[in-house]
Amino acid sequence: TDIELGAFLQESVRAFEKAYKRRVEVFVEEDLIVLADAQKLKQLLYIFMDNARKYSEEEVQVEAYREKDQAYIHITDYGIGISKDDLVRVFDRFYRVDKARTRKSGGFGLGLALARDLAQVMDAELHLHSEEKAGTKATIKLPLSQ
Ligand code: ATP
Repeated sequence: TDIELGAFLQESVRAFEKAYKRRVEVFVEEDLIVLADAQKLKQLLYIFMDNARKYSEEEVQVEAYREKDQAYIHITDYGIGISKDDLVRVFDRFYRVDKARTRKSGGFGLGLALARDLAQVMDAELHLHSEEKAGTKATIKLPLSQ
């Protein structure tokens, strides 16, 4: 179905902020309408926002814009980041970087494996860009409607 990203992201972020008492900045281009399954997109966003929250302490940013016939959504944090070696494995089931370091935030290492599966059925593309001790930017690329 058609989803207007502005309203959709605002609503998802508001629920998230309320649940976790964390501020999330949202920047969304106007009239950005994507073709996607709302339930799955919500789940996908939640996985990345949840990671951004767990592995950082400062502000989380969500932004969305169009480029050609695609919409890009970025979820950015300024947290612990992921090393190059780990970056190629974080989408694996049960893989967690340095268990001692991340133990307090819990988790089973399943979020990103689920995200990868969701993206596949949704025709979305995922990218993770990260730098240790600097932060992480997750990208969801989706087809625009029409
Ligand atoms: P859960 O199963 O609850 O999602 P998880 O967060 O451990 O737990 P994934 O979401 O699959 O599982 O993430 C895998 C690993 O990748 C994490 O354990 C963490 O080490 C690393 N990671 C993921 N996102 C980030 C991020 N934004 N910043 C730093 N490390 C991250």
